[in-house]
Amino acid sequence: MARRRSETIAVGHGYDPASHQGAAKPPIYMSSTFVYRDGAHAKSAHEGYLAGRAPDGGADEGYIYARLDHPNLQMLQTRMAALDRAEACACFNSGMAAISTTLLGSLRPGDSILHTRPLYGGTDGLMNNLLLPVHGIAPVAITDALDETAIRAAATEARARGPIGVVWIETPSNPLSGLADIALIARIAREAGAGQGRPPVVAVDNTFLGPTLQNPLAHGADLCMTSLTKYAGGHSDTLGGSVSGRFDLVEPLRKLRTLLGTHLDPHGCWLLLRSIETMALRTERACRNAGAVARFLQAHPKIARVVYAGFLSPESPGGALLARQCEGAGSTFSFDVAGGEAEAFRLLDHLRVFRLAVSLGGTESLICHSATTTHFSVPPERRAASGVTDGTIRISIGIEHEADLLDDLAQALEKV
Ligand SMILES: *Cc1c(COP(=O)(O)O)cnc(C)c1O
Repeated sequence: MARRRSETIAVGHGYDPASHQGAAKPPIYMSSTFVYRDGAHAKSAHEGYLAGRAPDGGADEGYIYARLDHPNLQMLQTRMAALDRAEACACFNSGMAAISTTLLGSLRPGDSILHTRPLYGGTDGLMNNLLLPVHGIAPVAITDALDETAIRAAATEARARGPIGVVWIETPSNPLSGLADIALIARIAREAGAGQGRPPVVAVDNTFLGPTLQNPLAHGADLCMTSLTKYAGGHSDTLGGSVSGRFDLVEPLRKLRTLLGTHLDPHGCWLLLRSIETMALRTERACRNAGAVARFLQAHPKIARVVYAGFLSPESPGGALLARQCEGAGSTFSFDVAGGEAEAFRLLDHLRVFRLAVSLGGTESLICHSATTTHFSVPPERRAASGVTDGTIRISIGIEHEADLLDDLAQALEKV
């Protein structure tokens, strides 16, 4: 049979009613521990766990304790692996739990990290406040993630600082939707790390587009990390994270997850399984709305600039990469109100449909002023270097009616 499409995988994959009393939808297994049939079964369940076999794989296997694994976690991981077109997936209680477990599991003291910039604030904090000072792991930034010379220079510098343990690529990046060429960075990093004994692990933070719009593994990444809190959860009511890739890379992360306790609980898994069913529909609608909002803002005299990947010309390096690497421009982007903080705040304070909050990917449209919220802790020089001005505002467009979003922005901009 032909390989199924994402929309179909999202609805039922990873759950078999026949194994669950015929329940059409996944029951929630609220149990911290699991009862063995007898002594021999207990032994084989532990053997299976140590070997990395699925606990529901056969009569000799079995669940042990929910921090190691539980039925709802298996269902969610099976579905996310299929959506990411991966052999295996591990799910975590937040995107940051996925990122910290992945980095701690893939790096050794004295390694370096080659990364794109700007990074998500939590990832930046983990690298600069823990991995660098405590473990001597130096992060080295790529200044232009589309330019071969810049990537090569950063890879050379990273290699000089130690073996390149991890390549961390965030694309598109936050808040200005900078694109990074996954295939090019992966190739250059592997060349730079060729003589170091173990190859660098190339990981992509796929949160901004999610599995519906970007498949990093198909472009040469080893691991695909996603904050499920955003588009997969989609309703701003739960947190979660996932890491997909080859079994030999993902299985050690599951073992480390057991030690760190970063697993996702049964109810969180259930919410995500339910939400993922509508992810493609929500994404499609949100992307359409985002295009309309971006065009409206672009034409408005009080808006100085709109940074929306959908506006990239197909002939530009960014536009060509978008066409090659992504299925769409996404629904989170930024714009600058002419003036600065005062003008930006006047816009925010008069909106009635948009809600003033950080985060993205929910059904509702959210808006925030980058310099004083998500990027408040970034020193002004580094903020400016990454293109964030005092007028920069980030929006995440939801699935409301397009006309109400445009009306809301129009009336609030009148007050600016
Ligand atoms: C939100 C986010 C994260 C962290 O995810 P949490 O679920 O909030 O821990 C990581 N990367 C990016 C790009 C994000 O937007």
